[in-house]
Amino acid sequence: MSRGREEVVIVGGGLAGASAASTLADAGRPVLVIERDAEARHKVCGEFLSIEAQTYLSHLGIDLDAVGASRISRLRLVRKLKLIEVELPFVARGLSRRVLDEALLREAEARGARILRGRAVRSISTDHSGVAIDMGPGDSIAAGSVLLASGKHDVRGVKRTSSGAMNDLIGFKLHYRMARNERQDLDGAVEVILFRGGYAGLQMVEQDIANLCLVVSRQRFEQVGKNWDDLLSSITDECPHLGERLQCARALFERPLSIFQIPYGFLHGPDRDEPQGLFRLGDQVGVIPSFTGEGMSIALHSGCLAASIYLDHGQAASIFHHRVRSDIGRSIRLASTLNSAVRHAAGQQAIFRLSRLWPGAMRHVAALTRVQEASMHNVLFAS
Ligand SMILES: Cc1cc2nc3c(=O)[nH]c(=O)nc-3n(C[C@H](O)[C@H](O)[C@H](O)COP(=O)(O)OP(=O)(O)OC[C@H]3O[C@@H](n4cnc5c(N)ncnc54)[C@H](O)[C@@H]3O)c2cc1C
Repeated sequence: MSRGREEVVIVGGGLAGASAASTLADAGRPVLVIERDAEARHKVCGEFLSIEAQTYLSHLGIDLDAVGASRISRLRLVRKLKLIEVELPFVARGLSRRVLDEALLREAEARGARILRGRAVRSISTDHSGVAIDMGPGDSIAAGSVLLASGKHDVRGVKRTSSGAMNDLIGFKLHYRMARNERQDLDGAVEVILFRGGYAGLQMVEQDIANLCLVVSRQRFEQVGKNWDDLLSSITDECPHLGERLQCARALFERPLSIFQIPYGFLHGPDRDEPQGLFRLGDQVGVIPSFTGEGMSIALHSGCLAASIYLDHGQAASIFHHRVRSDIGRSIRLASTLNSAVRHAAGQQAIFRLSRLWPGAMRHVAALTRVQEASMHNVLFAS
């Protein structure tokens, strides 16, 4: 069945897709979002919301207090038996992706976007007349423009050209119900735990739930026989602080969620032959290493920016790709260089020493890896 022709279709109803949908619907434009999952689900993510992400969320009508997000004002850096604590330059928030993604998609719907849930796009093809979206045998939609916001999932016909340099990392995420004492200690802080071959983030999200999210080299995972329990116990042996935190905590998933070959450092390079009318958002346009806690704000920025450029210039995707690249390129390059250091013992030692000698160092680095205020101002002011 052909579902006819749409002006704009957004593929993927995560942060990037939902923010673009809200912005377009707000401007009175008809927009259809196709989201593979029938309902929001947990995703591999540290669930740390930077101040930039919070600014976009508030602009998009999300009240983080109403949805129960935690508050985080301190960062604890932990390595082996050592711990350093610094104040964050802003109050961050913690919120599970399941709650956040659902709230954003509902808000887009309330503003007038149509959401087709539980349908996956199988392939996309483009020609001079527009874009054809295939959702399985006999099920297709024609569109003037497509905003591709499928996150880490590539879609046939429009796959990302490069998978980035750092693709040997594996990401894991697990929620825990914390014991009372540990919860009190963790409240208000994000703990970044450095270990051989990777790093973890532990923080409260909503209610008494904590999120443990870690990335680890494939080599270290293979050394423990690719077994999650053995990986976790080898990390807690190396870093007893994490062991204490989790000792009386109850895991809320049967097994952790995982993601393989994270293309940290990927940045979409506009291609002269790329068709107009195909906009790449969120992880489809750039992937920043997760220790920065900035991936979600990049997704929200790119979603709002793509929508506002579409409203001003129609199908001119190349204008958007040049703008977004200049807004996020520097952060991704710097964060990728630091990511290599964070994974290795010598780099971890250097980061620890520097943070002791100069407590402001982490704040300084954080400022350099963020979406800059001027770029955000242009988008927020435009819409
Ligand atoms: C280990 C790790 C930790 C992270 N921690 C943080 C953090 O603490 N803070 C932070 O800000 N960022 C973090 N990030 C980054 C952040 O999670 C991503 O950058 C962000 O989710 C990207 O948003 P998106 O909208 O592009 O993709 P997603 O949120 O992944 O959304 C994509 C959507 O598209 C849908 N979809 C996919 N394929 C199809 C299809 N074919 N048809 C229809 N729908 C489809 C999916 O179901 C999904 O809902 C982390 C990333 C990793 C890997």
